[in-house]
Amino acid sequence: MATETPTVAAATIRSTNPATGEVLDEIPCATPDDVHSAVARAKGAQPQWQSTPVQQRVELLRRFQQLLNQQRDDVAQLICREAGKPVAEALATEVLVVLDAAEFCLRNAFSFLRERPLPHANLAMKTKRGKLVCEPYGVIGIIAPWNYPFSIPAVEALGALVTGNAVVLKPSEFTPVIALELQRLLLTAGLHPDLMQVVIGEGPVGAALAESAVDKLIFTGSVATGKRVGEAAARRLLPVVLELGGKDPMIVLDDADLEVASSGAMWGAFMNAGQTCLSVERCYVHLTLYEPFLAKCREKIARLRVGNGIDSEVEIGPMIHERQLRIVDDQVRDAVQRGARLLAGGKRLSELGPNFYAPTLLADVTNDMRIMQQETFGPVLPVAAFDNDDEAIRLANDSEFGLAASIWTRDRERGEAMAAKIKAGTVMLNDMISCFGIAEAPHGGFKQSGIGRTHGEMGLQEMVQVKYVDVDLMPRMKKVWWFGYSGEYQRQMGGFADLLFARKWAAKLKGALSSLALLRRSNRI
Ligand code: NDP
Repeated sequence: MATETPTVAAATIRSTNPATGEVLDEIPCATPDDVHSAVARAKGAQPQWQSTPVQQRVELLRRFQQLLNQQRDDVAQLICREAGKPVAEALATEVLVVLDAAEFCLRNAFSFLRERPLPHANLAMKTKRGKLVCEPYGVIGIIAPWNYPFSIPAVEALGALVTGNAVVLKPSEFTPVIALELQRLLLTAGLHPDLMQVVIGEGPVGAALAESAVDKLIFTGSVATGKRVGEAAARRLLPVVLELGGKDPMIVLDDADLEVASSGAMWGAFMNAGQTCLSVERCYVHLTLYEPFLAKCREKIARLRVGNGIDSEVEIGPMIHERQLRIVDDQVRDAVQRGARLLAGGKRLSELGPNFYAPTLLADVTNDMRIMQQETFGPVLPVAAFDNDDEAIRLANDSEFGLAASIWTRDRERGEAMAAKIKAGTVMLNDMISCFGIAEAPHGGFKQSGIGRTHGEMGLQEMVQVKYVDVDLMPRMKKVWWFGYSGEYQRQMGGFADLLFARKWAAKLKGALSSLALLRRSNRI
């Protein structure tokens, strides 16, 4: 007699538009068992994908790229509706970034994956030929945040797939629809469904993925969650990349172009409503430019248009959710209470909806304020003055984060000299954030901002394990360093060391003569 297994209704994730509250979709959550099954399916499909010629994998990426380019406006609108950023920004900072990352893979996969000969310098190893071979890990787990819901998982997935891995993606609970859109595009391009799976759900689904049989995990998110993921991974020596938070400083030197730097600060602090890991979160301006810089920022903030990003004139959309808005508001209030001057914003824009916060300008902040130490992740530009280059570097480095920094100056040499002293994974001169859109540039941080790199060749390197293959060209010869040790052998080896490494010619010559006997050595064993 068949028995009915009692079923518990799966919990669902409700995707909503942060600008309007409109429900976009309601999606069943994966259970831990679903996550493990997805990984098992990926493991089953991956070996064949690994043995598929690189040319075919590249062609798949090309089809994906073409599809995305054809459907870019729809994709950008979907990103806007689920994550809140303006459509134009979704195009520039998500869709274009992915198109370009695909191009990078198309152009570089062959040379990257080509076997590389590894010549041996040591005389004793000249009878061997070595080479480096890149092998995919197998299944790459990707855990992604909501702030770049398309570009972050897509860039990582493309790198994983072109190098022969399968992918299981856990998107943020706030942006599941756009992750499914990425999957749809890849499957439409011809990818086997088991090679790109999406497991939807809240944090526990991510935790289940970290505990599953994936072969490597690429995590992007906050430091707190990143540490939890890192701990889980360490327990079973699972390799991880951790792309974590940032508190990026912007340093405006006394010779900077004030007009350009102030416009840069607007975009750097307020694009994506400040919810960018590479946002300008701290701004240090030289004393001589301080007040004029603040005046320009104040005037430019007044011209920014805040609203629903589906409107093409809007520059700043809503924040992702009310909880994030409260964190930002708390930090702003704390700074004001501790003496910061509020020059613009500092309030909710409730007339637009529950998730809108006015672009905010704070002056006279100090590094001991929460707003200068904790990640704000909202549309706030806190500004402080500095007196000289050394002080600017000290202030910029006074943070537990080290994702990126920017230096604004007309003197390239001076800027590069300062860049060398900044503790961050990226330093840009006279621009910020756009490094994320440079497909060749590695992305990743120092200090608490993470471990490992995504993007560019270094991002591809994270997707493969390097295997060293060595071929001995004299298979009929026993090696001189094998057993059969004796006092004479010891002297011969000493002579060989002199031949290679002694500084004086006489010692080298003597070493050569005594080590020649090594070639005639008959091994006892
Ligand atoms: P979170 O750390 O809250 O979440 C990141 C991802 O981890 C989400 O998918 C989340 O799921 C998931 N998750 C939550 N709990 C666990 C767990 N215990 N185990 C495994 N996964 C879990 O970050 P946010 O989504 O809020 O993203 C914002 C943060 O990401 C900021 O700190 C930002 O700086 C950082 N970031 C870093 C970037 C970089 O490249 N360095 C780029 C972009 C963002 P769920 O959402 O469903 O809870």
